[in-house]
Amino acid sequence: MRNEGFGAPSGRGRRDGKVASAFAASAPTSRGIKMSDRNRGVESFVPALATLARQQLEAMLTAGEEILECYRVLRKGGLNVVGEVLRGQGTFYEMNHYPDGDVFDPDSHAQYYYHAHPDSPYEHGHFHTFVRSGGMPADIEPVAYDGETEWPRGEDALAHLVAISMDPQGYPLGLFAVNRWVTGDTWYAGGDVIRLAERFEIDHAYPSWPTNRWITAMLKLFYPQIVALLRHRDRVIEGWSHAHPDVDVFEDRNLEVTGSLPANVEHQIEALRRALAA
Ligand SMILES: [Zn+2]
Repeated sequence: MRNEGFGAPSGRGRRDGKVASAFAASAPTSRGIKMSDRNRGVESFVPALATLARQQLEAMLTAGEEILECYRVLRKGGLNVVGEVLRGQGTFYEMNHYPDGDVFDPDSHAQYYYHAHPDSPYEHGHFHTFVRSGGMPADIEPVAYDGETEWPRGEDALAHLVAISMDPQGYPLGLFAVNRWVTGDTWYAGGDVIRLAERFEIDHAYPSWPTNRWITAMLKLFYPQIVALLRHRDRVIEGWSHAHPDVDVFEDRNLEVTGSLPANVEHQIEALRRALAA
């Protein structure tokens, strides 16, 4: 018994009541032509598995096995990780956060929510992951900024790590990094965000233990891709600000997704097994 949908309510609602167009599960995760131009070269930022320490590879493989275990128990119950966060939340409206009020771990200060943007036909929606200021080492500070937008500061500061794009069946399509205005976070250098991503952990059962274990493991399994997206993100931001010296790059609505990479759990596990056997 495998439930291919999310259960009721199915599909996606807009505030005006129209249901968004169908999704193409096999479509690439890069989001539009503008995006793919910028996206060129992200792959070259992905560190080769052979360059990572054996201990790291083993931790990644353990995370991959954790993901498969989450899938196993969810499938057995006719469930999937996305359906878990939508359950009991009413109609799925674009831009609303699911679950209502987000998911937060008061020990790690990690946070996530699921939602969908308008006009993103290649995915059902995506998870946004964060670490809040309480979970940051003391030496991590936001980058210098003299623009006019107020960033969350002090206890309200938070860093967006990476977004996980999901297909209509509730399985990951890819990972992507975004500009600051997209999630309204505080901006930290990519190297600092990589360190924060290593601390991401949701270690409780609300709204779903398997989904929380899954998302914690996703950020471990795809560590090389996250490193790449964040380093590439900083390069894109730098290039954009040089090309558009009169605009606040962090607020420019023409720069939304800075880069994306596919996220195939099975392929990553196979590659890890090969790297560990070499
Ligand atoms: Zn989003």
